[in-house]
Amino acid sequence: MTGLHDRKDLPFDDAFHEECGVFGIFGHPDAGALTVLGLHALQHRGQEAAGIVTYDGTQFIAERHPGLVGDVFGKNSDHAQKLKGSYAVGHVRYSTAGGSAVRNVQPMFADLAGGGIAIAHNGNLTNARTLRADLVREGAIFQSTSDTETIIHLVARSNYGPVVDRLIDALKQVEGAYSLVALTSKKLIGVRDPFGVRPLVLGELDGAPILASETCALDIIGAHFVRDVEPGEMVVITREGIQSYRPFAPQPERFCIFEYIYFSRPDSNVEGRNVYDVRKRIGEELAREAPADAHIVIPVPDSGVPAALGYASASGLPFELGIIRNHYVGRTFIEPTDGIRHFSVRKKHNPNRATLTGKRVILIDDSIVRGTTSRRIVEMVRDAGAAEVHFRIASPPTTHSCFYGVDTPTTEELLAHRMDVEEMRRYIKADSLAFISIDGLYRAMGEKGRDAKAPRYCDACFSGAYPIELTDVTGGRKDGQLSLLAEVA
Ligand code: SF4
Repeated sequence: MTGLHDRKDLPFDDAFHEECGVFGIFGHPDAGALTVLGLHALQHRGQEAAGIVTYDGTQFIAERHPGLVGDVFGKNSDHAQKLKGSYAVGHVRYSTAGGSAVRNVQPMFADLAGGGIAIAHNGNLTNARTLRADLVREGAIFQSTSDTETIIHLVARSNYGPVVDRLIDALKQVEGAYSLVALTSKKLIGVRDPFGVRPLVLGELDGAPILASETCALDIIGAHFVRDVEPGEMVVITREGIQSYRPFAPQPERFCIFEYIYFSRPDSNVEGRNVYDVRKRIGEELAREAPADAHIVIPVPDSGVPAALGYASASGLPFELGIIRNHYVGRTFIEPTDGIRHFSVRKKHNPNRATLTGKRVILIDDSIVRGTTSRRIVEMVRDAGAAEVHFRIASPPTTHSCFYGVDTPTTEELLAHRMDVEEMRRYIKADSLAFISIDGLYRAMGEKGRDAKAPRYCDACFSGAYPIELTDVTGGRKDGQLSLLAEVA
């Protein structure tokens, strides 16, 4: 998965994409501005659109637009100035193809019988298509293709009175992964699904409670971390304080292990562990499992850097920057014509010849998805004079798609689904190729290994062991991020 949080519109993009980041703050005079900053820290979780809804004591104000947080709420826009009020929720979104319409930008807002509600959701519902078809049959009119709107319809139609009961009633009908924040005129609510697939933390600034996908969103505003919202927990924040509910049947915890490998920011602490530390330990395990006779260890930046540091320290080999990343690649960059398309990888990564020439190189990346970028990078390092390229991957082979809020290629498109390790090595044209074992990955997480009967994490994209039912299955192929309009058309 070369390149941290690449943009899908780039021709060499070959990565899993986190779908969303959420943020909420209750009772702070600068709620809107703090939410802008919180979303800025969560930008890696979604780069297609950003949205904030505030409540100013009399009305809800919504600003939701396509673009990066800086584009939408930066100094060249007046959107941030409109966000009055001391309550706010925000969202950054990464949408799948065809799903990036403005109507899908979150937080979603609806005026219900009991008052307004704004919901920002990170995750993916695995029965959204089925629920949506039922709702449409009953007369619901959908404005978007987002499964978050399905939750809003279920809340609207609930027979319960108080909004908390209505939300619980709605969430009891959904399957899948969700960490969501909801804002009403009197409450900020945070919920994690019973398996706890996606992260959600509780923080505090100047007495104002905060909910955020990751701790890096607390750090940027000087807030302090209080605790993780637990799997299956609903926290309800009002002027009177914070109440915790456990409204769902308990399930085994299955936090997404890929959050540690790639999605979360390295400076975030996730479920008690620092992401950077975990990535370094993965590199150390990888060095023990898959050594190579080489001169230097180099990362594919930025995502391969912590694992490469760990590999270098465990192997005793020097860590070098043999590839330099250009951080200023954006969607406006001119698309290459076919004749020069093979240069496209260099838009983002360039080899440092002085470091590579004549060297036997261990090249570290976090994962291989389709393999197209990996192949180009190996070729680039070799062309820059490396004598040998030994490719080491800081995750097990990615053999299955994700259905829990991450945009992935279909299972059939994944290189590791189609090929064994030796076939992949030949495809990528490396001198050797090795992945960390799934037990090694769990050891890096502080476990003895993977417990096959009760794995501690969701690791379905490596194991195929999907912890949450995949109700919406089409044509024999489980459809990743659901194209809901197609179903009801
Ligand atoms: Fe995370 Fe993979 Fe599970 Fe998706 S399938 S939640 S990416 S571990």
